[in-house]
Amino acid sequence: MLSTPPGTEPLVVPRAPVTGDGRECLVGLSRDALAERIAAVGVPTRQVRMRTQQVWHWIYHRGARDFDEMTNVSSALRKALAERYVIGRPEIVEARVSVDGTRKWLLRFADGNEVETVFIPEEDRGTLCVSSQVGCTLTCRFCHTGTQRLVRNLTAQEIVMQVLVARDDLGEWPSPRDGRLLSNIVLMGMGEPLYNFDNVKAAMQVVMDPEGISLSRRRITLSTSGVVPEMARCGAELGVNLAVSLHAVRDDVRTRIMPINKKYPLSDLLAACRDYPGATNARRITFEYVMLKDVNDSDADARELVRLLKAYNIPAKVNLIPFNPWPGSEFECSPPERIRRFSDIVFEAGISAPIRATRGQDILAACGQLKSASEKRRRSDRDAESASA
Ligand code: SAH
Ligand code: SF4
Repeated sequence: MLSTPPGTEPLVVPRAPVTGDGRECLVGLSRDALAERIAAVGVPTRQVRMRTQQVWHWIYHRGARDFDEMTNVSSALRKALAERYVIGRPEIVEARVSVDGTRKWLLRFADGNEVETVFIPEEDRGTLCVSSQVGCTLTCRFCHTGTQRLVRNLTAQEIVMQVLVARDDLGEWPSPRDGRLLSNIVLMGMGEPLYNFDNVKAAMQVVMDPEGISLSRRRITLSTSGVVPEMARCGAELGVNLAVSLHAVRDDVRTRIMPINKKYPLSDLLAACRDYPGATNARRITFEYVMLKDVNDSDADARELVRLLKAYNIPAKVNLIPFNPWPGSEFECSPPERIRRFSDIVFEAGISAPIRATRGQDILAACGQLKSASEKRRRSDRDAESASA
């Protein structure tokens, strides 16, 4: 595991995926691991493959949550499976829908930790924004998640479950072939996915499996703040699209707003982008750039952005994100005409630089606004208690 930057909380090791009554949850296991669990209830070796296929299909294609739904599995086997296993879901603490149709779920896992998952419907697609960690060890100054003290990696199971919960709520079982509501996944929720790459990889392999949820790697985008040593693995072993949170074009500014830049400065980050396996003109790397008033939004910044992307010869597109404020944030969003001017400069140099529409702001579901509400509630509970003591 990668070391975390100094001054941040250590990662707490997640508890084993076992329910309160001792039964193990099968969600998120690889096919091989699922086969082992099925063999363990006494299924004859020659049948294990076929039974694994069936159970996989029920969990990930049909969305089954109970073994009794598995009508092509004998009732004796269904009973044996139900004695040892469950097909679980996290507790949904809160589910909110924005005026613009964006949905947000606050999910609580077995150990009480919580994350948020966001669904963003658009005309031609529906994107699920998935969390990879509870909180985040990186303390980007503009990001609400970075202020959450409690941090641990999510398990592969907890990552897959976010997709299952969204599918349950959207009523999207069995998996349709075409015209899906949930058509894309972005790993842009809470946490730094490349600090939890093994679990993210295992989860995305379940999600990409052609006999289950069956989302193509081209419809999955992983966003990183720039964990340089893990980037090549992400391209080689997972092959998903890459988004990089750039946000500044000079090391001094980037280090101020994103402390990870001290460890992996711009030259290392851009070289890793240039070398990203699978990046081509048809599959460009997305550079996210949050517009912070008087911090990173000048004409000179825009021109330097263009210069860098060209100097490193990176197949790139730029996403300009209006800064989303949160309670206590120290920045302001650049004015609309400044963002437009920045976008024009980059466009005129031949690089696509759309301004991303802010979605779900009324339910605090926009980029950088996610933070487990429970932690805040608990803190205010504590404050209330100490005030009355
Ligand atoms: N940790 C990863 C993925 C999650 S953040 C990363 O940093 O890339 C998803 C995106 O939202 C990142 O580009 C992040 O920089 C951006 N973001 C964070 N806080 C924001 C805010 N307050 N307003 C707008 N975008 C923000
Ligand atoms: Fe973590 Fe990404 Fe937020 Fe930075 S922007 S604190 S890396 S979640």
